[in-house]
Amino acid sequence: FIQPKKRPGIHIIHIAAEMAPVAKVGGLGDVLTGLSRALQRKGHLVEVILPKYDCMDYSRITNLKELDLELHSVFDGHMHKNKVWSGIVEGLPVYFIEPLHPAKLFWRGKFYSEPDDFRRFTYFCRAAMEFLLQSGKRPDIIHSHDWQTAVVAPLYWEVYVPLGLDSARLAFTCHNFEYQGTENSGAIAACGLSVRDLMRPDRMQDNYFHSRINLLKGGIVFSNVVTTVSPTYAQEVLQPEDGKGLHGTLANHSKKFFGVLNGIDVEVWNPATDTLIDFQYSADDIDGKYINKQKLRERLGLGNQGGDERRPLVGCVTRLVPQKGVHLIKHAIYHTLEKGGQFILLGSSPIPQIQHEFEKISRQFKEHPQVRLVLKYDEALSHEIFAAADIFLIPSIFEPCGLTQMISMRYGTIPVVRKTGGLADSVFDVDDENISEEKKNGFVFDDANEGSLDWGLDRALDYYCRRPEWWEDLVKKAMLIDFSWETSADQYVDLYKHLLKNAQAAKQ
Ligand code: ADP
Repeated sequence: FIQPKKRPGIHIIHIAAEMAPVAKVGGLGDVLTGLSRALQRKGHLVEVILPKYDCMDYSRITNLKELDLELHSVFDGHMHKNKVWSGIVEGLPVYFIEPLHPAKLFWRGKFYSEPDDFRRFTYFCRAAMEFLLQSGKRPDIIHSHDWQTAVVAPLYWEVYVPLGLDSARLAFTCHNFEYQGTENSGAIAACGLSVRDLMRPDRMQDNYFHSRINLLKGGIVFSNVVTTVSPTYAQEVLQPEDGKGLHGTLANHSKKFFGVLNGIDVEVWNPATDTLIDFQYSADDIDGKYINKQKLRERLGLGNQGGDERRPLVGCVTRLVPQKGVHLIKHAIYHTLEKGGQFILLGSSPIPQIQHEFEKISRQFKEHPQVRLVLKYDEALSHEIFAAADIFLIPSIFEPCGLTQMISMRYGTIPVVRKTGGLADSVFDVDDENISEEKKNGFVFDDANEGSLDWGLDRALDYYCRRPEWWEDLVKKAMLIDFSWETSADQYVDLYKHLLKNAQAAKQ
């Protein structure tokens, strides 16, 4: 193992359920890799612990090898054997935990949405903590993410500090308060925690359903610092509607709760070097963007002749879940068509009803020259859409941070977004007189209804068609905005350092 003694930097271990590009469902995967790489560049030792899913993209892991280690961890009152593998992902050392459990916890052909997710991830967290204890790793910071790994914090204080794993302070980031990981209270006992100690209103008892235990709440209560992924969302979740029952808990812990805006990995998302797009380009020379537009239209069988050349192309890449404003996305497809634009949607839904609904629309437009729906997860196509589109639509009902507005701007695709969460912190309306010229970078609408969306989208289509030179300047300006992790990673380092200073002071 890498033993981090006497290093100048901080030793940080992330425990998470996703990491791009090997195990990515949404933004959590991007954040894990982007933040970790930025921290590593700043001289810190960063390691990641993930479940060893069968459906990972193993081609993106180098040096994958099984460790010579007998790792037994407790679950349901029995000891279970685990294999532990190490490998490198995007330059980061990663440990993969493979439970040899009869339920084949991570051999399901998918990452989430299994009926026993609560058990799968509480098992994983217990095994991950056991790995830290047995391997002798003594990190300064253990950073867990979302409900899947929130139980790391109570496990640390209740079980592992007494066992001698006590070097660390705990950081917890919630990427979305909608998903909390609740179960009947007894379920928490499986990973070795005491129901009696934790089923208290000030600990892990669910604020709505008092017979249930809430993992996300445990992450908030037991971590030394809690962050979410944008300053605006950090404010919003203090309100009942967005806090989804945890607003009171957050208010009680507000002194340790911060909003840090996510960045994007500007090496992965770089139109000047991106090998997944047809033609690389940069803000100095954006002609390549139009070639990408042409090529993608050809590939998808969209109109690409004469009059089509200046036809605006609206793109949307998203999980199709209610949070993302699916009814507004549907409306925008028809509305764009009415206005003479083209629309490409890349998205898939874990909710069968929504998936079927969009499949129906997709069939309706199967041969249509102006609309294409691709209803799956496709990383390469997502890059092509970011590069090819003129306008990018994000009509979210709520949005903790959102990455696609930043990615699209980096590719010179102008976002049309609803003013909520991280979208409000990163997209600034070109027509808003209260915003300085230099900050203006897109189109923002206020309400989650069709009229409001039309107002935002129509202005974008109109500017694109009537003021091509102005538009081109906006494209170049958007491409040059710094959305890298640099600044945000510094904010995380400040929070970590603050924790370590307090820990030091407490010892003296
Ligand atoms: P969330 O985490 O809520 O899904 P974010 O905007 O934070 O939303 O992150 C979404 C990430 O997932 C982006 O990198 C986006 O490009 C990617 N993504 C979403 N849907 C798809 C899809 N169908 N195919 C490829 N990438 C997708």
